[in-house]
Amino acid sequence: MSGAGWVAIAGLGPGDDALVTPQVADALAQATDVIGYIPYVARVAPRAGLRLHPTDNRVELDRAAHALQLAAEGARVVVVSSGDPGVFAMASAVFEAVEGGPPQWRDLDVRVLPGITAMLAAAARAGAPLGHDFCAINLSDNLKPWALIERRLRLAAQADFAMAFYNPRSKSRPEGFARTLDVLRQECADARPVLFARAVTTPDEELRVVPLTDARPEMADMRTMVIVGSSQTRMVGRWLYTPRSAG
Ligand code: SAH
Repeated sequence: MSGAGWVAIAGLGPGDDALVTPQVADALAQATDVIGYIPYVARVAPRAGLRLHPTDNRVELDRAAHALQLAAEGARVVVVSSGDPGVFAMASAVFEAVEGGPPQWRDLDVRVLPGITAMLAAAARAGAPLGHDFCAINLSDNLKPWALIERRLRLAAQADFAMAFYNPRSKSRPEGFARTLDVLRQECADARPVLFARAVTTPDEELRVVPLTDARPEMADMRTMVIVGSSQTRMVGRWLYTPRSAG
């Protein structure tokens, strides 16, 4: 292949095609290769001249190195993530591969194309729970020890942040989210609202708000975003919101 190759690390948004940015659609229209986790590559419409490379979830660094190698050979590669590629997704994996790869990779044309992350899509469907200070935590302990997750949870609760949890609960890690709820109930002695937002902006979307005292581990799975309010977060009618100001 000839010509100047590039890598675009793109976010496909939370599910609805209307939430794919025109910039990402444009990169996909120009691409020769699309690389990513199987269900995300499945969201890209096949066309003549476009090679699709779906791969399993646990091979992020291999996938990133493959993308860089193809671009070095002249391919126009889109690496796809759901939501935003910089949020618990492929953008960091690509830069890690650049860091560990041949020096020429540092000169490649690599661009990160943002997308709407699940946290913001979920918040928008429910109202405005992230309208004041908040933090985002990945509850998976695949890439970090549980003790670090627990420490961050406790400190975030003590600092009265609203919290958005990604990857709350999987079949291989059923315990973590139960422990998360226990830690929060220890740190927050109130019935602040908890949003369970599943498959947001897809036909399977389900939203549910319950008081922290009633939140149960089974309410979350790997397609769920969990948003725990601050001490100020509340309902107004059917909307969940956090006021702009705090004590
Ligand atoms: N890069 C992605 C996050 C990848 S981690 C982003 O920015 O959104 C995968 C986790 O994101 C899932 O376990 C779930 O917690 C959340 N998630 C992704 N899409 C979602 C959706 N449509 N609805 C609710 N949660 C979603």
